[in-house]
Amino acid sequence: MTNNNTHPVHQWFALDIEEVIADIDTNSVQGLSEPEASSRLEKFGPNKLPERKQEHPIIRFLKHFHDVLIYVLFAAAIITAVLGHYIDTIVIVIVAIVNACIGYFQENKAEKALENIKKMLSLKAKVIRDNERTEILATDLTLGDIVLLSPGDKVPADLRLIRADNLKIEESPLTGESVPSEKITTTLNAETVLGDQKNMAFTSTTVSSGTGIGIVVAIGKDTEIGKINEMMTSVEELTTPLLRQTAKFGQTVSFFTVFVALATFLFGYFLRNYDTDELLMSVIGLAVAAIPEGLPAILSIILAIGVQNMAKRQAIIRNLPSVETLGSVSVICSDKTGTLTKNEMTVQSLAIYDTDFTVSGIGYSPEGKILSDLTEVDATTTPDLERLVHCFYICNEATLGKDERDNWTVKGDPTEGALITLYHKANTHTPKYERLSTVPFDSEYKYMATLIAVEGMNKKFIYIKGAPDRLLDMSDREQRSEATQPFNRNYWQDKISEFAHEGQRVIGAAYKIVDPDTTQIDHEDVQKNVVFLGLAGIIDPPREEAIDAIKICKEAGITVKMITGDHVETAKAIGKTMGIGDGAHALEGKDLEQMDDEALKKAALQYNIFARTSPEHKLRLVNALQASNLICAMTGDGVNDAPALKKANVGIAMGIKGTEVTKDASEMVLADDNFSTIVSAVKEGRRVYDNLKKTILFVLPTNGAESFLIMASIIFGTMMPLIPVQILWVNMVTSVTVSLALAFENIEKGTMKRSPRPVNTPLLSNYFIWRILLVSVLIGGGTLWLSVILLNKGFSEDLVRTITLQTIVITQLFHLFNCRSIRGFAINRWFFTNKALYIVGILLFIFQFFITYSPFMNRIFGTVPLAVSDWVYPYILGIAVFIIIEIEKTIMRKLSAPSSGN
Ligand code: ATP
Repeated sequence: MTNNNTHPVHQWFALDIEEVIADIDTNSVQGLSEPEASSRLEKFGPNKLPERKQEHPIIRFLKHFHDVLIYVLFAAAIITAVLGHYIDTIVIVIVAIVNACIGYFQENKAEKALENIKKMLSLKAKVIRDNERTEILATDLTLGDIVLLSPGDKVPADLRLIRADNLKIEESPLTGESVPSEKITTTLNAETVLGDQKNMAFTSTTVSSGTGIGIVVAIGKDTEIGKINEMMTSVEELTTPLLRQTAKFGQTVSFFTVFVALATFLFGYFLRNYDTDELLMSVIGLAVAAIPEGLPAILSIILAIGVQNMAKRQAIIRNLPSVETLGSVSVICSDKTGTLTKNEMTVQSLAIYDTDFTVSGIGYSPEGKILSDLTEVDATTTPDLERLVHCFYICNEATLGKDERDNWTVKGDPTEGALITLYHKANTHTPKYERLSTVPFDSEYKYMATLIAVEGMNKKFIYIKGAPDRLLDMSDREQRSEATQPFNRNYWQDKISEFAHEGQRVIGAAYKIVDPDTTQIDHEDVQKNVVFLGLAGIIDPPREEAIDAIKICKEAGITVKMITGDHVETAKAIGKTMGIGDGAHALEGKDLEQMDDEALKKAALQYNIFARTSPEHKLRLVNALQASNLICAMTGDGVNDAPALKKANVGIAMGIKGTEVTKDASEMVLADDNFSTIVSAVKEGRRVYDNLKKTILFVLPTNGAESFLIMASIIFGTMMPLIPVQILWVNMVTSVTVSLALAFENIEKGTMKRSPRPVNTPLLSNYFIWRILLVSVLIGGGTLWLSVILLNKGFSEDLVRTITLQTIVITQLFHLFNCRSIRGFAINRWFFTNKALYIVGILLFIFQFFITYSPFMNRIFGTVPLAVSDWVYPYILGIAVFIIIEIEKTIMRKLSAPSSGN
């Protein structure tokens, strides 16, 4: 624990609230004015912690040379230099440098992408400025700002609390203590140590429950966390399981290559009559041939492009590996409100003890009427109705306002916004009252309560609104004709079902009279002796695009499950209209609670709708689904959802509604809170994974073919068909230039119609190994055969090598078209959709033309200009390989049933 006595300015916790306000010169009700806030921001600077020190770019660049592949290249460079083949040495060194440059730029690009994504997720703060509640970037907070805190918020600066309603804050980043600290507002002793400063809220700690208001007393590096200089940003991973697998694969290839090269050298030296120099050059050729130099960089680029595409579609990936996991998701558990529905709430029905009402008008505009049997009702002359409306209005945190386009909008919870609109439609006024204490709404308890003092009355009222079944348990009387009467529970239960059956979200209202000297309330104060007032039925229309997305999920073998805090009948009705569940079956939270893990494992598969759940049920559900080996994506917004999101394979937080804690626990954030965004991300995930695999399938046969060619030539004692520099040229050109086209390959038809890829499928499945070997032998064997024929025809060695080089490159270009679809037929309607493919095709021709006809390149790479007739050979072989692979794919398709991706 740090002692706060060292604070250079003040011990804010030891000052009375009035002193703090005077000292820091602010207004606790109206907040700062905008001009004052801007001038303070200029004076004190932004509310930012000092950035972590970055490694020097040169060091980061040099780190790219620390790689087994590069070591092999350097060894080759040294040997060629010793042998006096200086051109080879220079080319090899250039390739190593180019490779490091690509790695460096790729890493920078990936880091920038993540940096931008971090910006999209930047911390916001709810403040009062100019007497209005607004949301600003936490970096724009300044001394004297009045900050509002609610559950799940990350405290944006050091605050002296001036209000705390059951406020509990988890301060482990600062104190190491994970039990939330209960907050108060009373002034503390000057000796109080940091961990006991209960009237303060500190930067980077998180609100675990309750609400509060505080004055900003320290920002940026002056905050307690700033003083211990600990950045609270998590370090995102820059690699993924597939990339790690490839890197490991690359290492294995390198060791294997060195081993084979040595063996080949010994073989050539002792069993063949090779000149040592020439043999060494061949072995170096083999070493550089077998190593897929450019592959790791290309794979990272594909991932980075994927992450950017997802961000464009409002899905913000917080850690790279999830891009791959997304493609294998087999069940999506989604919240209802705001994700599947629009979260545009409108009160449509009301009920008091003997009358039902309908409410006209839609949205938050306060235009509409309360009707009973199609006749307008005056709420001011119907006291029980008026009291119901007042309760909804008083026990409420939201405010209504107009946006720049003059539309009515809510600041705060949309359910509460709908109740404020109702109040305005009722055209009534509450008596003058003062709010004294609040039990904030929490999905765990599902109600909210407010203690008020009404002017001129010698008693105090607690108004409660919440899930009606919770309120039924608290109530023992009901309001009838301005008096309290015995409670008719059955009547209300039927009414709730009736509203819920129509898909309405039902909210109950109740009140309780308490002692005049009550000043604080908590959950215990509202558990009994409550008077029930009535109900409101709220509609929340489904999102059209979510209905379509659910259909896509069904086709893609992904099950969608709705997990909601709403009433079971409401959930079933909405589920049915959206295509989730059958409208008849649903599991309720209370039944789920009774089940043991085995029973829940079955129920989790059987049901698609889970109603009246609380956040801890979500965690049990994730566990149950994962126990059936399903890859589970789970959405969440509240602070209590964090454990379930952490446990899920892909935790998805809401960008708008979600709390900071949930975002921190998630792998992905939905900037628009929309279910269909999840499905777009899954689609992109599948595309990225396919393209990664296609790239591997494309690049490795180049290395395979070259290795085959060189080993065969050593074994058969024929001429070296390619010299090391030519091999490096082919490797860099095909993998770095050509394979990049695959990163832009569109999603294949049918990708969202196949079932999810089973996790832990090895990178190189048996089919992949077979294909890579087949293509390697086809290209390697083909070129070897060609070179033998050409040599026999009397072509010069340099000419044969140049034709061999062209043959490998051009055959690979044809093979690129094979790789566009792993199993499907290459020539289809989408043949011209990927422009990148044609651009790299043209680039490749320019490169190849250059290396063949430029005297400078001829000298470096040992090539010679070709006659037009010489170009026939590469094309014949290219077309042959293309056709053979297409035939092979057709046979394989016929042999195996449609499978999950490879
Ligand atoms: P989802 O998890 O799908 O978002 P939900 O938002 O409907 O579900 P909760 O927010 O936990 O789930 O709400 C559960 C119930 O609590 C609602 O059906 C409603 O009756 C009640 N409720 C919701 N919001 C409030 C509120 N602000 N004040 C009081 N009661 C509320």
